[in-house]
Amino acid sequence: MVTFQSQVLVLNASYEAINVCNLRRAIKMIVKGKARSEEVSESSEIRAASLNIKIPLVIRLVSYVHIPHLAIKFSRKNVFVRDQYMCQYCGAKPTKQLLTLDHVMPRSRNGNTGWENMVVACLKCNNQKGDRTPVEAQMALKRKPKAPTIISHLHPNHQSYDPSWKKYLYL
Ligand SMILES: [Zn+2]
Repeated sequence: MVTFQSQVLVLNASYEAINVCNLRRAIKMIVKGKARSEEVSESSEIRAASLNIKIPLVIRLVSYVHIPHLAIKFSRKNVFVRDQYMCQYCGAKPTKQLLTLDHVMPRSRNGNTGWENMVVACLKCNNQKGDRTPVEAQMALKRKPKAPTIISHLHPNHQSYDPSWKKYLYL
């Protein structure tokens, strides 16, 4: 159901996805002429006194905004956010206390501490894996770890994307 809190994808004038905002803010930007709808919901319209707007799902800024720091800082907390507090080996979502970070390529074998080599693992899987690679331990990763984008960081639960966002996010 569409509400004023529904999420709208914001594109730069260059079509690059840069943010997610709520519907209320998206409509304000359209009314002020700062953004235009790129994708709209066919099913519903918002009617106000002098306003008759199709519900935007994706909007694009009229003028290009330079955004210098799109990279998400690597940190423990941000790895947990990226992996949605889910063990990347068994898929369990236990309480935070039972979750750790695992070096996919063990540190003892020069595995680095960065986005591509760190994943959330439950204590059980972490112990089971020990100082082995996923192949050696026969423990497959749920997905290949990589640095998050600004959008995946703001909106880590991919299932809740509107399908119309997909072509802008290269999912
Ligand atoms: Zn696990």
